[in-house]
Parts: sequence; C-alpha cells; structure tokens
Amino acid sequence: MPTDTRPGDKVRFTRVTKRFGENTVLDGLDLTVAPGERVTLIGPSGSGKTTILRLLMTLERVTDGVIQVDGEPFSHMPAGAGGKLVPANERYLAPRRRHIGMVFQQFNLFPHMSVLANVMEAPVNVLGLDKDEAAARARELLGLVGLADKADAHPTRLSGGQQQRVAIARALAMRPGILLLDEVTSALDPELVAEVLDVLRDVAGSTDLTMLCVTHEMGFARDVSDRILMFDEGRVLESGPPEKLLDAPDHDRTRTFLGSIR
Ligand code: ADP
Repeated sequence: MPTDTRPGDKVRFTRVTKRFGENTVLDGLDLTVAPGERVTLIGPSGSGKTTILRLLMTLERVTDGVIQVDGEPFSHMPAGAGGKLVPANERYLAPRRRHIGMVFQQFNLFPHMSVLANVMEAPVNVLGLDKDEAAARARELLGLVGLADKADAHPTRLSGGQQQRVAIARALAMRPGILLLDEVTSALDPELVAEVLDVLRDVAGSTDLTMLCVTHEMGFARDVSDRILMFDEGRVLESGPPEKLLDAPDHDRTRTFLGSIR
C-alpha cells in the first residue's frame, strides 16, 4: 500500500480501487487535484464519477489504495509508532470531513426549518459557532446565492432552483476548502437550471475553493473547469483543459459521449 505523501496536492488518489461485490467500479485510479483547481468529471453513466465524490465524502470506503487530502492520509490514518496506515476511523475522519462540502442532485434540506436555520444548522451544531455569528454568515451566503429575501421562508415554499441555491449556501457555510458537486441540476426543471449554474459560476469566480464537479452541463463545465476528465469504466480515458477535451478530444469514445449529451 502506498504511504508516500506529497505536500501541495489538495486531493490525491493513489491506485484507488473500489469494488461493490464483483463489480469493480474504480480500478487503480490515480488522480491529483491542485489547490483551487476546478475539475469536472464526465463520462457515461456507471463509469464511477459519483463514487469518486462519495469516497471523498466518506460515504463510501476504498477497497484498495489511499486517498490523501492536503497531503495527509484521508481514507487511512497512521497508527502505532511506525505510522503504518490503517483504515481511518470516525474520530480521525470527523474533523477532516468538515473541510469538504457536497451538494447533491437532491437538495435534502430540513423541511421543518427556515431557510436561515438550514444554513446555520451545521456551523452551530458541528462547529459550535455562536448563533449570531452563524446567522450573520448565513445571511451573507444567502445574499451570495440571491436569496437574501427568503431567509425566513420554509424550503417547501421555494422552487427547486431556489432550494438548490439554499443547499449551496448550506455547504459553503462550513467554509469548506473543497466543494463537491454531484449533478446538482439533474433533478431540476429545465427552466431552473440556469439560475443554479449562474450561482455556481459566481461561487467559482469569488472563492478559491477547490471544486470537483460531476455534470452533464458542458457549457458550465467549459466556463468553470481548469481541467475535464473523461471517465470510462472506472478509468480516466483522457483529460485536458475544456477547449481541448470538448472541442478536440483524442478518443472516439469521448466524441461519441459528447455527441450523446449535446
Ligand atoms: P456514475 O456517477 O459515473 O454514473 P457511479 O459512481 O454512480 O457512476 O456508479 C458506478 C457503478 O457503481 C455503477 O455500476 C453502480 O451501479 C455501482 N454502485 C454505485 N454505488 C453502489 C452501491 N452502494 N452498491 C452497489 N453498487 C454501487
């Protein structure tokens, strides 16, 4: 098992394999993401893109290989005098996981709480932030996502696009260093997609967050990505800046995939 650490990478996957039973979803994946880099993962359904984000959220565990974040082991933790790596336990992971925010396809807001309370909840309960401070920060973030006037509304009164913008504010409220976006517009009616993508463009433009994004929205991917990775069967088929990967890909499979979603 690799134990080397390389300072400077924000995220590093070293020979990461993930299996579900007989199904090898990721097969010895090597992947590095630099601080502040915006990386978009594209590829056919089932190629392992979401699994990568879920491994970083520790919603799944690696079968083999190591994930590092900020140059430290993340999937594993050093144990004993020799610093041998063993699978990370909850106590090791809890403070590190806070550094990573995720927005899902489904918004998963707390329906019984106001919009403001949704955004304040984790900073108060997880970080122990003072309520006034958390509320001020939440209002600021609701401003960023264009929902300052909805602070007291209940999520059920909002459109899907507005709910997703609240979910973005909620993820940012934890001041993550890494933001994971998993098909955040896939559950939205087409006319609501643009407002969410515009907010994310603003977030990308106004922060130095490292972002990993799974999306089928190639216009958005072109605007925000430093690098696009094309996945196929758990491996990176090819990668490059948007203009290369979207306009002049090396592989027929990439061309076919892009043709199928345009
Ligand atoms: P993508 O995001 O590229 O569509 P996923 O990472 O969601 O791909 O899924 C990759 C493969 O892993 C699929 O074959 C899927 O069925 C399988 N898979 C994902 N999560 C689970 C799970 N919890 N249990 C079993 N199989 C899973």
